[in-house]
Amino acid sequence: MSEQWIDLRSDTVTRPSPAMLEAMRAADTGDDVYGDDPTVNLLQDTAAELFGFEAALYAPSGTQSNLIALLAHCGRGDEYIVGQEAHTYRYEGGGAAVLGSIQPQPLPNQADGSIAIADIEANIKPDDVHFARSRLLALENTIGGRVLPAAYVAQATAYAHQRGLATHLDGARICNAAVQQGVSLRDAVQGFDSVSVCLSKGLGAPVGSVLCGSRALIEQGKRWRKMLGGGMRQAGVIAAAGLYALQHNVGRLADDHANAAFLAAELGKIPGLKVSTPQTNIFYVEVPQQHTAGLQAALQAAHIRVSMAPRLRLVTHLDAPRAGLERTAAVFAAYFSKL
Ligand SMILES: *Cc1c(COP(=O)(O)O)cnc(C)c1O
Repeated sequence: MSEQWIDLRSDTVTRPSPAMLEAMRAADTGDDVYGDDPTVNLLQDTAAELFGFEAALYAPSGTQSNLIALLAHCGRGDEYIVGQEAHTYRYEGGGAAVLGSIQPQPLPNQADGSIAIADIEANIKPDDVHFARSRLLALENTIGGRVLPAAYVAQATAYAHQRGLATHLDGARICNAAVQQGVSLRDAVQGFDSVSVCLSKGLGAPVGSVLCGSRALIEQGKRWRKMLGGGMRQAGVIAAAGLYALQHNVGRLADDHANAAFLAAELGKIPGLKVSTPQTNIFYVEVPQQHTAGLQAALQAAHIRVSMAPRLRLVTHLDAPRAGLERTAAVFAAYFSKL
């Protein structure tokens, strides 16, 4: 019998568990464009309550949820300050610029994932016809698996507000950050005017994100969501999975973090491999360029899927059990021992 595949490319690869599928099967539904879907409404109310906001909006993806937030905070000719490594800036097709005429002001991310306050300060534009209007500071937590220091978040969001900017958090993996810090979800998003949370990453839902914010922001967001094609009908079927994820899969993220720590420690024992120390469920291995192809082949043969690169990102999740990680560590060790 061939071994089960283990997929360490991302925590988006998880499949709904039998209990989650049962919750989806049992979901009460209605037409969500009319606001009639009780399961979507419950998911939105639950998310708003958990994260400490007035309201929330269910969106088909994190990309759309972030875009809705940017469109709701910024108008044409406004700009948002964002990290050079941030998902909204780098990996969302330039949607804010393409669809919102919103100019990004990307700034370097420091080693801990933060954007230096001095850099923010130096890049908020004065009210002058030459400049775009600086409107929003967007941070990301976790970013590349790193948890933004709580003191930094407090300082940066307070500074932005003091300068008249709104604040948005791309909290695709904010639950990982909260679990790592041992704080409530509410405390983890303190200081932000809006937060986008992915249900389809480590939380294990097949699809969906929620955007949390003030009632006014979410009302505006609803209009943008419809325009972007994100108004769904009997979405309760998938929202039920998101609700199940929020109710059952937050605390267990600690297992993913422990598994990442385990795998990183095992790989770190291999001479010549440089491995980052994971804070959450994502870490990086520096694979010498001449070994990327060979290692990729060895992993593939052992039914282990990665996105091979000289800076290899490995991601643990609820469908990557410890046994699979032990197997992964063994394949790495065997490959490098034969050199
Ligand atoms: C995955 C991700 C998103 C976007 O989510 P999709 O559902 O894949 O569109 C946004 N931000 C971060 C940090 C992510 O990791």
